[in-house]
Amino acid sequence: MYQNQQQQQGYRRGGYYNDRYDRDYQHRGGYRRHNNYNNQQHKRAKPPQSKPKVVIDMNDDQWKEKLTLPKADVRIRTTDVTDTKGADFEDWSLSRALLMGIFELGFEKPSPVQEQSIPSVLMGSSLLARAKNGTGKTGAFAIPCLEKCDEDVAHTQMLVLLPTRELALQTSHVFKQLSKYLNLEIVVSTGGTNLKDDIIRLQAIVHVIIGTPGRLQDLNKQGVLKLAECRLIVLDEADKLLTPDFLPAVENLLQATPADRQLMLFSATFPGTIAEFKETWLPGAEIINLMDSLTLQGITQHYAFVDESEKVHCLYALIRKLHINQCIIFCNSVNRVELLSRKISRLGFPCFYIHGQMGQKHRNRVFQGFRSNQCRYLVCTDIFTRGIDIKSLNVVINFDFPRSSNTYLHRIGRSGRFGNLGLSVNFITNEDRYNLCKIETELNTQVQPVPAEIDSKLYN
Ligand code: AMP
Repeated sequence: MYQNQQQQQGYRRGGYYNDRYDRDYQHRGGYRRHNNYNNQQHKRAKPPQSKPKVVIDMNDDQWKEKLTLPKADVRIRTTDVTDTKGADFEDWSLSRALLMGIFELGFEKPSPVQEQSIPSVLMGSSLLARAKNGTGKTGAFAIPCLEKCDEDVAHTQMLVLLPTRELALQTSHVFKQLSKYLNLEIVVSTGGTNLKDDIIRLQAIVHVIIGTPGRLQDLNKQGVLKLAECRLIVLDEADKLLTPDFLPAVENLLQATPADRQLMLFSATFPGTIAEFKETWLPGAEIINLMDSLTLQGITQHYAFVDESEKVHCLYALIRKLHINQCIIFCNSVNRVELLSRKISRLGFPCFYIHGQMGQKHRNRVFQGFRSNQCRYLVCTDIFTRGIDIKSLNVVINFDFPRSSNTYLHRIGRSGRFGNLGLSVNFITNEDRYNLCKIETELNTQVQPVPAEIDSKLYN
């Protein structure tokens, strides 16, 4: 639908889209249009104010009929998300207000990871949960934790740590949607924004804090974070948070929380290196493992054997041929991202780009712009590898092949969200051949050469 519309409205003419994106967006840090995310995140913090209290009519038996539900997603779903024991969200005595938020977000039935995690968290267990990308991990911790937060208690009760700013923003967005009918204050705090603004925001009552470890550690050092009563702590994309870059800040924050905390680790990959952390911080935690194999169901994987000098030409041929709703193109360096996005734009395919050396305001605009389907192609570094959830994204192209199987897995997992189908195409140069074999072996998968025709039903 999107594709057809865009092709009709000037995409083929090369007029509207090219002109607008080229002028306002690309290669200048431009993109001057505003969007909600960015405005929310960067406007000067106002003196703390509570949001208007939501009152739920508990005598209203017709509440379900009155919900504003999103349009049903009728795409095919893989067993990753459908293979459940048949639980319903209403089985766990969740509050009416929370159920309203869940249903209005379009969640009808719990996914397997939600089915296992929600009751465990409600019962007070610490968790180490391993489940595939895009199978509903955010809901798996957000739903039970929001249920456990008490709006009448004026303390920070929940802390969610994530490795990237974009993921923190995305997660806070899900929390805000789920808690639409709850009177909870949720604050997102990440690097790249004004520290003083965060300090002001945290003067108010805050029930849930979502953020990246570095910024939260700074706030903790300033004595602004009040974690003494914070007993629900989530490390999402936990394997990344437990790498040496983040671990000191994570441990520092954990030390500020009470010993009887409930700690929840979620990730698709848990390398052996986390064993020591588990011993120290999660003795006796419940283990949930919903990954018998590391690969993703529903994602068709192909490779094209190319020479470095042929890559752009090959990409051009590919994107002309494929039925792309939205596509991420990964490169292995900041320079290559900028260069490639310039080349693609010149070829008549307007695209956005994002990498870690861009200012945070600009990053937020790109992120939100791409999420809201303003552009079909995004060229990026691994900044976008983890967790980012864009429903209409159906194709991932590794213009530069990743070095590790973890990165490969996380990158291709950007398509095929919540059991939908997706396609990944990998450009393999002579030097990448051994890496491809290594990744295939480690993931116990086979990446096939690109055939002359790829059936669009495989990724739409
Ligand atoms: P996540 O793995 O949390 O990033 O979620 C991946 C996608 O699945 C997101 O777009 C969610 O909105 C969606 N999702 C999560 N849980 C459910 C559910 N129970 N029913 C329908 N969609 C869901």
